[in-house]
Order: sequence, then C-alpha cells, then structure tokens
Amino acid sequence: MNLKEELKKYFGYNSFRGDQESIIKSVLLKKDAFVIMPTGAGKSLCYQLPAVLMEGTAIVISPLIALMKNQVDQLNAHGIQAHFLNSTLSKSEATRVKKSVLAEKTKLLYVAPESLTKEENVDFLSKANISFVAVDEVHCISEWGHDFRPEYRKIRTILRELGEFPVIALTATATPKVQLDIQKNLNLEDAELYKSSFLRDNLFYEVRPKTNSKKQLITYVKQFKGQSGIIYCLSRKKAEELADLLQVNNINALPYHAGLEQSVRMKNQDAFLNEEVDVITATIAFGMGIDKPDVRYVVHYDAPKSLEGYYQETGRAGRDSLQSNCLMFYSYSDIVKLEKFNKDKTVSERDNARQLLDELVGYAESSTCRTRQLLNYFGERTDEDCGNCDNCKNPKDKFEAKDDLLLALQAIEQTKEHFGFKHVADVIKGSEAKAIKSNGHVDLMVWGKGKSHDAQYWASILRQGLINGFLDKDIEQYGVLKLTEKGKDFIKNPFSIEFVKDHEYPEVGEEEDTKEKDTVKSYDKELFALLKQLRKTLGQKKGLPPFVIFQETSLQEMATIYPITKDDLTRVNGVGIGKATKFGKPFLDLIQKYVKEKNIEPQTEVVIKSTFNKFKAKIFIIQQIDRKMNLDEIASARNMSFDELLDEIERICFSGTRLNLDYHLNDILDEEDQDEIFDYFMEAETDSIEEAFHEFEEVFTEEELRLMRIKFLSEVGN
Ligand code: ADP
Ligand code: MG
Repeated sequence: MNLKEELKKYFGYNSFRGDQESIIKSVLLKKDAFVIMPTGAGKSLCYQLPAVLMEGTAIVISPLIALMKNQVDQLNAHGIQAHFLNSTLSKSEATRVKKSVLAEKTKLLYVAPESLTKEENVDFLSKANISFVAVDEVHCISEWGHDFRPEYRKIRTILRELGEFPVIALTATATPKVQLDIQKNLNLEDAELYKSSFLRDNLFYEVRPKTNSKKQLITYVKQFKGQSGIIYCLSRKKAEELADLLQVNNINALPYHAGLEQSVRMKNQDAFLNEEVDVITATIAFGMGIDKPDVRYVVHYDAPKSLEGYYQETGRAGRDSLQSNCLMFYSYSDIVKLEKFNKDKTVSERDNARQLLDELVGYAESSTCRTRQLLNYFGERTDEDCGNCDNCKNPKDKFEAKDDLLLALQAIEQTKEHFGFKHVADVIKGSEAKAIKSNGHVDLMVWGKGKSHDAQYWASILRQGLINGFLDKDIEQYGVLKLTEKGKDFIKNPFSIEFVKDHEYPEVGEEEDTKEKDTVKSYDKELFALLKQLRKTLGQKKGLPPFVIFQETSLQEMATIYPITKDDLTRVNGVGIGKATKFGKPFLDLIQKYVKEKNIEPQTEVVIKSTFNKFKAKIFIIQQIDRKMNLDEIASARNMSFDELLDEIERICFSGTRLNLDYHLNDILDEEDQDEIFDYFMEAETDSIEEAFHEFEEVFTEEELRLMRIKFLSEVGN
C-alpha cells in the first residue's frame, strides 16, 4: 500500500509531517505506540488515517466533548464515516450510532471516558469489531500533568474487558514523570515511543515583572494591531475585566470562559477564528483544539499553574512557523494566590501542585535561556542557548560558580541523593528546621557552609546545575535530586564554570490603576523649562497664578509624552477637556514646534482609560456634591476614607471640573478665614499645601487648606 497516495486521497495532503508515516505504519502493523508531539504537529492524523485503512472501527478516547463534534465534522467533510458517543446524544441518536458501528460502517468512534465506563456502552463495544484504540490527550491520566481526569485512570480496565487490540496513546505534554505514569497506567512500557522535539524556535519567550501590568498589556497588544493574540488569566472575572479594559482603549477584544453561555462562547470563539476580533481574553477553558495558525502572541497575564500548562498554552502561538511571542507577567503574589486555591485538596494533591508551582517559579526567576529550561523540563537536553528569548537577549551578570556548585553537589551526595531542592538548599544554608535535624543533617560537613547566601540562591545554583547536566531529578520519586556522571566527575575534578544571577522581582501585586501613580519618571528637562516659562507668561497675561493653568506635574508629564493634539493632551494627568480647551492651544503649539526641531518621535504613551466603574464613581461624587451631600456621607457611600475622597475630589478638580464645596466650607471656616486663604493662593508662587501650612503658621489644618485650594481652583481656573 502506498501510504502517501492514501494520504492524498483521504485528506488531500501531499506529504507526511515528522514521524507521522512511521507511526501510521506501526499502527497498521497492530503495534502499540506512544506518541509525544507538540501541539499542532498533527497527532490526529496518526490514528485517523490507519482507522480509515483498517477493517472495523477505531475507538478514539478524547476528553473534550466540544472537540469531538469538531473532529467528527471535519472527518465527515472528508467523506469519512465518523461518529461520537457522549452524553449530548439523544437516545435515538445513540442507537443510530451504535447500529452504524455494529454494521462496521463507522471508521472512527469518538468516546468520552465517562461514556466508556457506562455499562450499556461496554456491552455494546464488546460486540463491535474494534480495529484499535487511540487515547488522545493521554496526559490526563497523570496527576502530574496539567489536566488530570480521574476517569482516564479507568480506561485500561475497561479496555481489558473489551478484548485485545493495539493502543495508540497521544499527547503534547509529557515531562519524564508524566510519561512514566502514562506508560505504567496503560501498560505501554513496550510500546514504540515516538517523541519529537519540543523545540519551537519561532517562539520568543519572555517574562516580565507584573508591575503596571495593565499599562504594559495595552502597550504590548497595541504593537500587534490587526493581528491575533490570546491573553490568559486566572479567573472569569478577570477575563471580562481585561476585555473591557482593552475595549475602552480601542483594542478589539472579547472574553471567553466557561461561565459564559454556550452560545456567547461559540460566538466569541468564531469571531476570533474569523478575525472579526483581534484579541481573546480567556481562562484556560479557551484553546484546546483551537487550530488558528497565525496567533502572533500569547500573554499570560496571571501566572499559570504549571510549566506543562504554560507550554501548551503558548504553543498556540505561531503554528504557521512565523515569529511569534509569548509573554508572562510574573509576581510571586500570584503564586501565593494559586497556592490558596489548593487549600482544599488532599495532602498529596497539594504536594504535587506545590512542586509544579515551584518549577514555574524557578523558570520565571531564572536568568538561564528560557528555551533550554523548557526543553530540559520536557526531558530534552541541549547544550546551547537559543539566542532568541529575553534571557539570551538581555543577559544578566555572570559569576564564577565553581565553589558553590561544588558545595551544592556535595550536599546532594552527603544527603545520599534522597532529597529535593528545598531540603538540599536548607542544609547548605544551615537551617535548623525539624526535617533537617531529624535526618541528622546538621552534622554533615556541608551543613551551614553556605550561610552567606539565602535558600533561594542555593536553589538557583541547583537549578542551573540541573540545566547543565550535573544533576538530575528522579522520575520515580518526584523532585529528588540525583548526581549524574558529569556531577560525580565535577566533585572529583571541579573546574571553572559561570552561572547567571536570578532575576529579582519586586514584591508587588498588580497595580490596578497606574494612571495616577507612575506618570513622571524622567522628563525632558529642556521642554519642561519652556513649558513652565510659557505657563508663567500666560498666567501674568490672565492675572492668574501659574498653577491654576496647569499643575507642575502635568507639565512634567507633557515633557514626557509630548502631546501634540488636544486629544493627547487630555490624557495627561490633571488635564481634562475643560482645561485642554481653555489653556491647551499655546502649549500644544510649543510642543509641536519643539518636537519638530529636535526630531523627537512623540511617544503615544499609553494611558489607561479607566473602565466604566471608575468613571461611574467620579460621576457619583460630582452629582452628590452638586446635591450638597455631606462629604462624610459621600465617603461612606463609596466605601472610602475621608482622605481618599479628598484625593478623588482633587483629581476631579485638577482636571478641570468645577466643584462648589461652599456648603461644606461654610461649616468649617468663617468668611474671613476663607478670604484670607483664597487671597493667599491668588498671590502664591505654588499650590503647595505644605508651604501654605507654614505660611499660615499652622493655623489652618491641611484638610482645610486642601478644601480651600479646590474652591480656589474651581472659581479661578475651571
Ligand atoms: P495536534 O493534535 O498534534 O495538536 P492536529 O492533529 O490537530 O494537531 O493537527 C494540526 C493541524 O495540522 C491540522 O490543521 C491538520 O489538518 C494539519 N496537518 C496534520 N498533518 C498534516 C500533514 N501531513 N500535512 C499538512 N497538514 C497537516
Ligand atoms: Mg490533538
């Protein structure tokens, strides 16, 4: 039989990819096969073509009902008889499918593992002529995978009841540990193993600290205008929020998560596939089986639960082999959050989850080539850096690691190769924790030899030792470190070797609204001076103190982002439409001239437009002040402290909205005092509250002065 001709005939493809042909041949010879290929490599064909060519019906076990229909539809479109059996079928539909199988017309029958265990189905299947069984997404069998499904555990027992036939198991993710689990569980120790390289050299891997993450996200997504991208986050709520955030910032985005109605989900998915929408913000519910070749980027807005999951999800980028990007925002507080989710699990499940998270932390914080780390995780060793990841592109300082590596390897040796990262690091550091004492490890020669560094440092040394092949992780006892031959040799004859320092990530959570916080970093001093001068002349002309026109911080921001249109200008903190219209023109003219002269590329700096809620809060405050509502009551209605409310009122006022607080001021200050403060601001050089406070020799409180400043600005400036 000429397989190539059959391929062309049934599927229209001209040639096989990778190992497809050998795998298909082996299935046709009724041998067991275990196939590990990255997502998108073409695993389905490995069982679809043999199914067509062999007598009887191939059973395909697949975890996702939604995908079954999809695959069956595609096969039917090729003129191949395929059906599925799952809980969505009506009784009569199920009967029809069974008939077709028993008549040996159906070439492929997709079954969900739940359905497989049902007695009536077992009865029926034992009567069928089964050509072979394919178990797709077979990593679901292992608790060490990212998608564990208890029903997958039962597959082997059921299959045994059905009779003897070849099994082909397929997955895109298998760390050595998961691989072993699968082989044991399905009795596939002797099966032919087909494992293709996991190297995806068109993917640029990058990890960034999760600070100003919303702003970073918008900037990032904006560079891919008109191209497809997926943004993963942890919760349904977050998926919705991010879609909103992107939408108000003129990015075409829709959410996808299991909490949406089926019809909405389908609609959003289709919109993405048909390129009516550029970006999908999703939980991990999105993506399995999504076959869109030109996804240009995948962002993990929240840290993923494991590296397997991460690799799988990022694998959806760049299936067309063109350069694509994978960005993860990382903050340790996300890891803490993920750990909390595991609270209710059993001890062993929690331990597993913890170890998977540790691997992820190691990956994120390490400055070693990302590709090497990932490949290493999937059991592939490479000696070369990829040159195409953030760590390769921006190498961190290296340091001589000979002595420390030696110490780390000796620690593994002296603890008899029975322990994992944490324990070994603790021993070197000289910890007196219970586990260290009870194992007698305080008496070891290495104990406390590495006191001058923290445990994290030692974990990093161990991790780099692992990547460089000096040690290995035991597959049977997960996480236990063993010395390799190379490691043993090193202990005997240590040599000079350079390691890199880990990244240090700031201990911060996500900053929800960065707009107010990080406006001015380094501004253009020259332009700033010009703007300030202009403000002064303008103030003199109008008989106003300069700060009434724009605040100093607003000028600094202008000197950072170079606004040249009125629209740009309103993005500057403290500049609302009102002020932009009233005072903006000469400033814009000046900036325009300046940029032209200096040949400066105006930075269309991203300013996060706040989503609706924030806007609503602002409107609420303005309305309540209009109604002369007591300020304390407004604060408590918004769940704010009085101080926070005052901050908010100032923001509203500084960007040009006129507020009348007389009803409140008249309660706290008499007319004379009010006039005095008002006149002070009229004459003052700056609007600094501190200066006013000293000027009045601390007669008025800061709060009184701030409230008066609002009155003053509202009446004079806005
Ligand atoms: P996997 O299950 O490995 O993630 P799929 O089986 O879904 O991948 O295949 C991914 C894509 O590759 C599909 O669109 C499939 O039609 C296509 N494909 C598979 N094999 C070939 C081939 N030999 N030639 C061309 N396209 C192929
Ligand atoms: Mg597949």
